[in-house]
Amino acid sequence: MNPVRVRFAPSPTGALHIGGLRTALYNYLFARGNGGVFVLRIEDTDQKRYVEGAEEYIAESLEWCGISPDEGPQKGGNYGPYRQSERREIYAEYTQKLLDNGSAYYAFDTEEELNDRREAEKAAGNHNFRYDAATRMGMRNSLSLSAEETAKLLESNAPRVVRLKVDPGHTVVINDIVRGRVEFASAEVDDKVLMKADGLPTYHLANVVDDHLMEISHVIRGEEWLPSTALHVLLYRAFGWEDTMPQFAHLPLLLKPTGKGKLSKRDGQKLGIPVFPINWEKGAPEDFLQGFRETGLLPAATINFLAFLGWNPGTEQELFQLEELVEAFSLERINKSGARFDFDKARWFNQQYLITTPVAEVAPLVRAQFAAAGHELSDELAATITEMLRERVHLIPEFFTKGRFFVEPVSEYEEKPIRKKWKPEQRPVFDQLITDLAGLDDWSAPAIKATTVAFMERNELGFGAVLPILRVAVSGTVQGPDAFEMLAVVGRENTVSRLRTGYDAFDQIKAG
Ligand code: GLU
Repeated sequence: MNPVRVRFAPSPTGALHIGGLRTALYNYLFARGNGGVFVLRIEDTDQKRYVEGAEEYIAESLEWCGISPDEGPQKGGNYGPYRQSERREIYAEYTQKLLDNGSAYYAFDTEEELNDRREAEKAAGNHNFRYDAATRMGMRNSLSLSAEETAKLLESNAPRVVRLKVDPGHTVVINDIVRGRVEFASAEVDDKVLMKADGLPTYHLANVVDDHLMEISHVIRGEEWLPSTALHVLLYRAFGWEDTMPQFAHLPLLLKPTGKGKLSKRDGQKLGIPVFPINWEKGAPEDFLQGFRETGLLPAATINFLAFLGWNPGTEQELFQLEELVEAFSLERINKSGARFDFDKARWFNQQYLITTPVAEVAPLVRAQFAAAGHELSDELAATITEMLRERVHLIPEFFTKGRFFVEPVSEYEEKPIRKKWKPEQRPVFDQLITDLAGLDDWSAPAIKATTVAFMERNELGFGAVLPILRVAVSGTVQGPDAFEMLAVVGRENTVSRLRTGYDAFDQIKAG
């Protein structure tokens, strides 16, 4: 068996969609699980679609997830260069091989001529004009023109492309690891352009040449590339490389949260969920795209979530750290059918990881949330808030939205419990609680609890009558961590003043 070498081969045409990140992840897992090598190759031969900053975005996304390549433009390696734009001579050399062995030919038809031909066919009722075995002899190319005419055109530097000469009448069989046996008739494939007039290769040529030269053993990529694979197999044949052709595994589509249709870039904006790994902030403000990272997901949760979009371990286990995924992952367990992108599931994974990741790792992220709102937390306070809230939080920003009361006075009170529980005539009774707490020297959760319980007993009040009042006054809501621990963190002065302000506000709520 050849050593496993796989590649992630994105085109730098913008932000990397989350589906692209899944492709990268599966390649990474397969490489790691099989003692192989994970290559990053930047497919940037389409200059019209090139977007500045996209390559950096891809590298940063992979790094954030902890799945950086072993070889690539930044990392280097023995199979470089890893940017296709830096491999022009290689493609020219290999195109020449196909021209020499009769598998490819020059075509001189201009854009205009091709359009005219298409229009003429349309007028005659044929809407699917194709450049292929049936039509090529009626076009201007090195097969239809005489050798002299061809030589003259080449010498005069006439614009030309190189096309693959596809022989109809063959069957192309692909034994896809995910999809099983897939057959294509070569007659379905047209004489695809391999080398463009600008001297740059098309995706197909560059992809096949590079997979061969980089000794790629398995091509793991999105299902949308399956139809192109027929052409790729024909190219391997044309080069005489069929024996060392990589194995193919085409990954299922990611579907919209509704389960209907392909997940698109716009779904993120429409539904207010991220469908990109990290924020895309290049270009115009309206081009902004929201990332998983900035939405507050941990890399471990993102990876676990993505791994399950199209794969399952065949057991009940759902939580897998990266190393465990490496162990468990196999191409054979990838599903054929599309995977529904359910962001609630990502939130669930994130909560699981927030609970199980050491506090020391989450606390700095929590600190950053508070810092962004102008509050510098001590390490100790950041750790305490993390510990107290992590079971109640799905996304990291919620540590601040749910925990701002730790450092800020309450600005809004949940009214429902107040309407139900606050009795203005009992205010003198509740004022005793303020006095009791204000006089408490040992401001610890057990002491606060003991004082509160003593107050309750003296006034024949139960927890149900007192805790909601305390909670809403101090934190704005009845939900939250243990009330007494919460007060211990908020502090005595703050608690006392918040009770005073709270009672006033409660009177107003009741009056309103
Ligand atoms: N450059 C292609 C893309 O952007 C690569 C497809 C492949 O992996 O062959 O997805």
